[in-house]
Amino acid sequence: MTTSVPAHTETPATQRKGYVYIIGAGPGDPELLTLKGERVLREADVILYDDLVSSELIDRFHALKIYTGKRKDSHHFEQDEINEEIVRHALQGKKVARLKGGDPFVFGRGGEEIEVLRKNGIGYEIIPGITAAHGASAYTEIPLTMRKISSSVAFCTGHPINKIQVPDADTLVYYMVASSVHDVLDAVVSKGWKDDTKVAIVQNATRYNQKIFTGTLGELRKREKAVYSPALLILGANINQFIQNNWFSKKKKVMITGDKEMIYNSEKFIVVPSPCHRVESADRDKVNQCLETIGDYSILLFQNRFSVTYFFRYLQEYGKDVRYLAKHKIYTSSHAACAELLKYGVIADLHIEVERSGEILSILQEKGIEHENILLPGSNINDEYLLNALMSLNNRVTPLSVYYQGAKDQVETIDLDFIDEIYFSSPACVRNFKSCYTTIPETIVVTTPDPKTEAEYVKLFMDKA
Ligand code: SAH
Repeated sequence: MTTSVPAHTETPATQRKGYVYIIGAGPGDPELLTLKGERVLREADVILYDDLVSSELIDRFHALKIYTGKRKDSHHFEQDEINEEIVRHALQGKKVARLKGGDPFVFGRGGEEIEVLRKNGIGYEIIPGITAAHGASAYTEIPLTMRKISSSVAFCTGHPINKIQVPDADTLVYYMVASSVHDVLDAVVSKGWKDDTKVAIVQNATRYNQKIFTGTLGELRKREKAVYSPALLILGANINQFIQNNWFSKKKKVMITGDKEMIYNSEKFIVVPSPCHRVESADRDKVNQCLETIGDYSILLFQNRFSVTYFFRYLQEYGKDVRYLAKHKIYTSSHAACAELLKYGVIADLHIEVERSGEILSILQEKGIEHENILLPGSNINDEYLLNALMSLNNRVTPLSVYYQGAKDQVETIDLDFIDEIYFSSPACVRNFKSCYTTIPETIVVTTPDPKTEAEYVKLFMDKA
């Protein structure tokens, strides 16, 4: 009898060399990434991403992230360097995700990158993305084709200006037009397009700050219009009267800081995560030390959703599950923490609802929380009121930092002019926000979940003294 290694256990040469996925991230709205793209990004060791990939999307993944765009404050990557970087990581045997805005094969230089991979014998796959034209079309209600009106569409580029082409199609979509709108319009007119042709410029399509200009070709040619990248120019009879009042423009834009509140459903709202607030894992060794001696505590008190999420993540990494906590009483001090505990099959023994900081002491007394040994999983920032109140009732309290919160190094500034509402989920979030934005425009509605956060907001943003 001969034994052979089953085919699927052999490591193909390409895999030993690493493997590269060239992935389209879509036009901006992070939910427009494909399921396949999402899975691969979750599994990747390294993600090399471009300018047009939003930080909201990239923040979700844990791989090493390398920015290969052309932002002023970072190293400016030329295409050759990007190619080298992809190859270098792949040759270390890594799973590399090359993430590009829109679709990699529509003005995305994906073609050049696969050539280099082929030359180096590195295996790859391509995962398509929603190109900007499709995103803009859907989020402005401009059909790219329409029965009897437009039976063809062409994707063109406005850069470089000496190579602008005007194909023979009913709808034209021009990419890269920020500095060449007028050159494109001149080219189109010289091909016989009429002054009354409808045109639209769509800036930041599918993002919270999407902006549209519409009019006729003649009008736009007369106007000196500043167009900011990324923008598309669309021409054709399909541009209809609904464009300014489209479904996307009707949504309220809410900036959320910290914990995401479920009241903001996607039917009515677009959630814009605050660029100032960052939540990260804490020191794992310290958490593990605490898990080793968990038997010393009688109560675990979870203050918010993140304290539960991160605690249970560490518990699982430590090789234990909820049964490890069977002897403990589990308390919470927020509804979000209660809801999060349920996901792990835990019903809190007690929920302490504190409306005002001053009430904590009497509530704890009323519930008989005295002379206990309490573990308080939370962030690096302690709730001093809770801590002091617990200790004044002769409890031994051990705060355990299971996550870290702090101000983000600003990667992407959010333009507050587009924001309708800001939700601050805790006093720390108000403080982080203050470190990025000194004022909040009066047109913005501010909401908070509790009086403590409200007081911090009033102190930092409303007090003129
Ligand atoms: N591969 C990308 C295109 C990259 S070229 C894709 O398939 O969409 C960069 C150009 O794409 C920008 O200059 C702009 O014209 C267009 N673009 C990308 N994202 C956009 C967005 N959200 N809104 C409008 N135009 C966008």
